[in-house]
Amino acid sequence: MTLFDSPAFDGHEAVHAFHDAKSGLNCIIAVHSTARGPSAGGCRMWAYHSAEAALEDALRLSRAMSYKNAVADLELGGGKAVIIGDSRTRKTPELFEAFGRAVDAVCGKYWAAEDVGITPADLAHARRMSRYVAGLDGHPAASGDPSPVTAEGVFRGIKLGAERVYGPGLKELTVAIQGVGHVGGLLADKLHAAGARLVVTDVNEAVARAVAERTGAELVRPELIFDAQAQVFAPCALGGAVSLETLPRIRARVIAGGANNQLASAEAGRALYEKGMLYCPDYVINGGGIINVAAEIRALDRGEAYEQAWVEAKLSRLMQTLEEVLQRSREEGRPTHEIAAEIAKARIAEGRAAHG
Ligand code: NAD
Repeated sequence: MTLFDSPAFDGHEAVHAFHDAKSGLNCIIAVHSTARGPSAGGCRMWAYHSAEAALEDALRLSRAMSYKNAVADLELGGGKAVIIGDSRTRKTPELFEAFGRAVDAVCGKYWAAEDVGITPADLAHARRMSRYVAGLDGHPAASGDPSPVTAEGVFRGIKLGAERVYGPGLKELTVAIQGVGHVGGLLADKLHAAGARLVVTDVNEAVARAVAERTGAELVRPELIFDAQAQVFAPCALGGAVSLETLPRIRARVIAGGANNQLASAEAGRALYEKGMLYCPDYVINGGGIINVAAEIRALDRGEAYEQAWVEAKLSRLMQTLEEVLQRSREEGRPTHEIAAEIAKARIAEGRAAHG
């Protein structure tokens, strides 16, 4: 099989590989689609065991960004960058300056932001070399940490999903949250304030304990979160939480959380639907973060300041799209992840038709 007919390639417009001998940068920038506008997506730094694994991840993540940006109705396509290396030991200002030069060489077809292993401070070095870097702090257009907007979208999505299955209000419900880092921790605060009961876990026990103390949540060991007596299961850690192995243990009838790539496989998505469970597709419910980054890109392009009202309008529209996904799933008798993918593909095709 060649790169071009591998499943992950999926019609990518461009895939760039960059090497900088002086700083040791090895990075890939994948641009899946610019049909709706320049591509945008985070940069991930990870100690991949091979260049092939890094390429596979970049392709998979950049296609997911095309879908996420389309369902969030942003004038942005999908792209992603991966830097090969351990983010705990290999970061230097020179590495990120070299990354900034790589972003600039893509000539505005890709906007970089943060993903796993990357902070706004890292991107500040890249930004010195390219204007196509967003998700920063400290200037009028800056959007700062995207996690609060992501958590707000996930909170609203959980309310929508739970209402469909259990009726309005969260007071009678228990939500099990896997991973209480940036997004999961803020989500726990919001759910607690709305009166929901919580079961939480995190592989970082100190983080989990702090969240449990301030929200009154029950704390369980990471491997036991799937067995929690809860009405909603909210994966907010890494991908693959919902699999054919974990599904039989999950008692919640609603799955809705902030993590990317929650379904370990398409079969898991179909199996949960056939069990009568409702899944709020990850790239719909967690689109708040990229909406926040898009507000910065928009402000930079226009020479204006970051606009909170624009972010709120986009977040409300995203929740309407989630409602449409849930409604169509019920009416058409099909899983939500299939319907969300159709909406995303249709919006990308519209962009292609409009922009050529
Ligand atoms: P984070 O690193 O702050 O939090 C993740 C937490 O999950 C950490 O505390 C970690 O210890 C914990 N964890 C990891 N594996 C675990 C496991 N097996 N069991 C229990 N806990 C585990 O990251 P974050 O920014 O909160 O992002 C969480 C998820 O949401 C990720 O999948 C990320 O890609 C996705 N996401 C985040 C944003 C955002 O705005 N931050 C936006 C969209 C999607």
